[in-house]
Amino acid sequence: MDLLRDTFSAVTAGAAVSRETALLLARHPDQPKLWSAADRLRRRFMGDLFHLCSIINARSGGCSEDCRFCAQSARHQTDAPVYAMIDHDEAMRIARSNAAAGVVRLSLVTSGRAAEESALPRFNSLYEQVRRETKLEFCASMGLLDQRKAGMLAAMGVSRYHCNLETAERCFAEFCTTHTWQDKVATLKTAAAAGMSLCSGGIIGLGESMEDRIELALELRALGIRSIPLNIHTPISGTPLAELPPLPLTEALTTVALFRFLNPEAVIRMAGGRQLLGPEQHRCFAAGANGAIVGNYLTTAGCSVAEDIARLREMGFVFPSAAA
Ligand code: SF4
Repeated sequence: MDLLRDTFSAVTAGAAVSRETALLLARHPDQPKLWSAADRLRRRFMGDLFHLCSIINARSGGCSEDCRFCAQSARHQTDAPVYAMIDHDEAMRIARSNAAAGVVRLSLVTSGRAAEESALPRFNSLYEQVRRETKLEFCASMGLLDQRKAGMLAAMGVSRYHCNLETAERCFAEFCTTHTWQDKVATLKTAAAAGMSLCSGGIIGLGESMEDRIELALELRALGIRSIPLNIHTPISGTPLAELPPLPLTEALTTVALFRFLNPEAVIRMAGGRQLLGPEQHRCFAAGANGAIVGNYLTTAGCSVAEDIARLREMGFVFPSAAA
């Protein structure tokens, strides 16, 4: 029996990989073979289209929550910028340049447990101007949602809601005590009920095991998530996790490959922190990933959109025409 070949065939025939098989794959003696099998699965299920989206950090810092990895919690002393609303012109500048570069989706992201209802009209005026000037589609990532706010966002033209589970349910309380993993699941369900599609993933490199990552991939699968951002933990001075060692590239590649085996029909997006993997970070896109969040991340600098696109084209990915 060849575990990798048999699992690959089973997935292409429509079978779902079990927790036990994923664990065996994680321990496969030839990891480069696992990565390239995941790349073939990506091509088989998702083709060569690359999925680019971008983020505008619409509100930054000053957050009441205690997420241990996050620079934006008011409980940590960090250098993260603090503002209640991004300057409108600056946000438009980012939106126009991303649209011109070929980015398809734009997310307004706000720090905080939940966006206040009273703030939504200001975000709406930004979405409206972006809609007038570009063909960008809209996402939002505004913390926990109730039914009313979800309905307001959907009415504003937000077609996808983002809320990371961050880590497997069994680990969550180690990293955050002010809200729960179940609060996030409830938010995703509320967003779906309002008609938005879902985007949810997590952070790897928080000290969790490969088994925990497999658990997260299974939880996302159970929720039917088809857009999965994977962040690489960025140790930020002033946060309780500032001293965590960096995630080795090989572990990141194996994690991406396992997410592809467990979620063959999802867009797996490399998000914040991938630059920490060094010059070989693009190998994630030859190990199952087929999307990225480009430009400047929330509190860590990303690579330029043009650099990303040029490299990805060389790897055989294709892009929709520019959305501006
Ligand atoms: S991850 Fe979100 S909720 Fe948690 S501290 Fe950061 S901004 Fe606040």
